[in-house]
Amino acid sequence: MYLVLLGPPGAGKGTQAALLARNQNIVHISTGDMLREAVKAGTELGQEAQQYMDRGELVPDDVVVGITRERLNAPDAHRGFVLDGFPRTAPQAEQLDGILEELDMQLHLIVNLEVPERELIRRMTGRRVCPNCGKTYHLVFHPPRSLGTCDECGTDLVQRDDDKESTVRQRLEVYRKQTEPLVHYYAESGLLLNLEGTGTVDQVYERLEKFLK
Ligand code: ADP
Ligand code: ADP
Ligand code: ZN
Repeated sequence: MYLVLLGPPGAGKGTQAALLARNQNIVHISTGDMLREAVKAGTELGQEAQQYMDRGELVPDDVVVGITRERLNAPDAHRGFVLDGFPRTAPQAEQLDGILEELDMQLHLIVNLEVPERELIRRMTGRRVCPNCGKTYHLVFHPPRSLGTCDECGTDLVQRDDDKESTVRQRLEVYRKQTEPLVHYYAESGLLLNLEGTGTVDQVYERLEKFLK
């Protein structure tokens, strides 16, 4: 199964993609995670990307398309993938079509997670992540068992720099301008599913799962 998760920042893409990957035995490809790893590793690509990410802007298309192309070319992606956070611009969507064509893969479904803006801000500002294993939590909606530490590996949780309220607003604006138009691009393909992203994590997943069959 080849899926794309579309939606504003904080909509729950990463959370739902992780569930899909585990339950459907497909790979979770998050450009945000890949970029954050490059930043952490201090690679040249990471250094370039960081300036944009800190400002809540999009990293240039050629950089993101490059890492996504490489990831999709890896053999495990053939088994099935869920793309989380890519594509985010019209050129990225066009390039994705080309990459998939070369690999002889066809998207099965594009899921657009819909969540009201107030809730997005609540979700992002309360998000906490594990800097070691990447697991995502929320202070109120999905707290770890022991305050401030990761359930999986015991590492102290952190807030992403770009989840501070001022950057969050900038990211929402960038989403409305650059990413939301993709909904129309995919609507024409007939593969678009607009899915209500409110309710608990499990409720959203159940809603989504119904369409996978
Ligand atoms: P969220 O899940 O909250 O939407 P991500 O982890 O997907 O955040 O992305 C964090 C940041 O990484 C973005 O604000 C942007 O700077 C960069 N980024 C991630 N994916 C892309 C992409 N496809 N194109 C450009 N920039 C990206
Ligand atoms: P995205 O990848 O779209 O930016 P995330 O999956 O990281 O979104 O979720 C953003 C924040 O909201 C995280 O702190 C996550 O734990 C929380 N969250 C995800 N889904 C839900 C939900 N259905 N209800 C409440 N909180 C949620
Ligand atoms: Zn962890």
